[in-house]
Amino acid sequence: MKNKIFVLDASAIIGGFYSKKSANFTTPDVISEIKDLKSKILLQSAIEEGCIEIKDPDPAALKRLETVLNESGDILRLSEVDKDIVALAITLKNEGYDPTLVTDDYSMQNILKIIKMPYRSVLTKGIKDVIGWVKICKGCKKKYPPEYAMEECEICGSRIIRKRVKKP
Ligand SMILES: [Zn+2]
Repeated sequence: MKNKIFVLDASAIIGGFYSKKSANFTTPDVISEIKDLKSKILLQSAIEEGCIEIKDPDPAALKRLETVLNESGDILRLSEVDKDIVALAITLKNEGYDPTLVTDDYSMQNILKIIKMPYRSVLTKGIKDVIGWVKICKGCKKKYPPEYAMEECEICGSRIIRKRVKKP
C-alpha cells in the first residue's frame, strides 16, 4: 500500500491544517510566503516536531507541469510558488507516495483535476485529524494563545507547555 501524504500550500498552513497521522510536505518558497506571526510560530513548531517536511520539487516534474500549463493556453495561470507546490506533489507521487494537495486556490485545483492529482480544500471538514496547539500552564492550567512567547506563567510562575488540540 502506498503511503498517504499531504502537500500543503500557504492557504493550508495559514488555515492550520495538516495531518498528524500522515507526513506533510511543503516547499521552501511556501515557508517564506508565510508572513503572519501566528502561522509562522505554528509552522516553526510543526517543522521542529518533524510534522512538516520541506522539500524542493524535482526539476523534471516542474518541466512536465509547465508543459501541461502551456498546452492549456491562458486558462491556467499559476504563480511560481504554486507551480512548485504542484510539482512537489508530482515529485512525491513519482517517488511512490500517495499525495493529496491541500489548497483553497481554484487555479491550482483546476490544474490538479487535469493532472488527476487528488486534492482537498482547507476550509472543508474533510480532514479529520487536524490539530492545533494551545499553551497551558503546568501549575494553574491557565491557557495561553499559541503565539504566547514567555516560558513561565504570569499567574503562578510555573512552566508553560504546548499541548495539541483537535480543532472543533
Ligand atoms: Zn500558572
